[in-house]
Amino acid sequence: PKMIGLAASPTKVIRVRPPPKMRNPEIIKNEDLNKTVDFLISKIKGSLTGMKAMEEAYQKPEPVTKVEDSIWVYIDHFDGELNKTSLEILGAARRVADLMSTKLGAIIIGTGDENLIDEAFKYGADEAYYCETDNAKRYDNDIYTQALGMMINKYKPNSLFFPGTYNSRELAATTAIKVNTGLIADCIIFDVDEKGQLQATRPDFGGKETSTIICPNNKPVMVTTRAGVFSALPERDFKGKVIKDKLEKPVSRFKITDYKNIEKTNALAAAQVVVGVGRGIVNKDNIKLAEDLAKKIGGIVGVSKPLADSDWYPKDRQVGQTGTTIKPNLYIAMGISGAIQHLVGIQGSKRIIAINSDPDAQIFENCDYGVVGDIFQIVPELIKKIGDLNA
Ligand code: FAD
Repeated sequence: PKMIGLAASPTKVIRVRPPPKMRNPEIIKNEDLNKTVDFLISKIKGSLTGMKAMEEAYQKPEPVTKVEDSIWVYIDHFDGELNKTSLEILGAARRVADLMSTKLGAIIIGTGDENLIDEAFKYGADEAYYCETDNAKRYDNDIYTQALGMMINKYKPNSLFFPGTYNSRELAATTAIKVNTGLIADCIIFDVDEKGQLQATRPDFGGKETSTIICPNNKPVMVTTRAGVFSALPERDFKGKVIKDKLEKPVSRFKITDYKNIEKTNALAAAQVVVGVGRGIVNKDNIKLAEDLAKKIGGIVGVSKPLADSDWYPKDRQVGQTGTTIKPNLYIAMGISGAIQHLVGIQGSKRIIAINSDPDAQIFENCDYGVVGDIFQIVPELIKKIGDLNA
């Protein structure tokens, strides 16, 4: 019989850990309702104003090493419009490029899509690689894989970041095979070690652990990123070097008969303030309490899975691993226990405030401010006193 050899994986897991705790919670008990409400109001207002300032400033990190090859970000687009997730990934990759003290390049493949180059410069790219392709006005995996493979072989980037869109994830996989390198999927944290090696961390085992993975011997290191985890940099006025190339007369094995844009764009993913509500709300009618608070502070309501499963709220408002990943400036969790599948979806929130009657609820280990108390006692009073922050 024929021997079938298993190729060694180009990637290597270097660490498995519980998800990192990125917050330093300040928890109070609701012993005096007035004091509790004042505490919440000050934290809500502080979160909303302080976060705006944080958004505007990008703190360039100290380089840990010097790398010659550049970091690339694949710019996903549909009908001449750039997919916003690409901008988030430019933000994440900018930090990696600065840690490596190297350039950040945007790689764009298309037919007549040069307009996207300026967008990439505005949001963090130092240079843009544009590969013109004949007869691929829209994404065709066969042609895009040939184009990207050609560009990688010619310009040899150090690493290549892909946004977490359907097309990008597919393209990352087929291109990794084409150029014989490793792919680390669905990453949420990036670091660089002193050797200049990219370390990518991703949730594993249903979010219970995270694995940190490297790709030591093959280049470029390819990563896809989870949508909604990273933030785009503030817009800037910048134009960098453009490197143009062309894939002549590519042939595709596909005959594409129709295109539909199925990328999820829902209000929850874009919201800057989300009031999350869980089983502690007891029944469907009580969700109005969360809606009233959301209205006052300019937010929208998100729910935990049991509420969406019970049809108490639309499914597209479910927050979490099997719902939407959110990254608002402020997330308020009312009567939510903080199960890992919920936490995975809120970790990109800049501030998390939790109200829960159980002092041991897991949400209190994963928030910035917490109140141990009854939502039915606290939230109506909070709504009365907070004023209209949405005005
Ligand atoms: P519970 O865990 O029942 O928590 C309710 C909380 O309310 C408790 O902590 C309680 O102390 C508090 N409470 C009760 N009364 C009050 C009160 N009066 N005042 C204040 N607090 C009060 N879950 C998601 O949310 N999103 C997902 O995407 C998701 N995906 C999943 C995928 C898989 C494969 C699996 C297995 C599970 C998934 N889950 C998801 C479910 C998850 O494991 C939890 O079961 C769920 O998040 C719990 O929702 P909850 O916090 O609303 O309810």
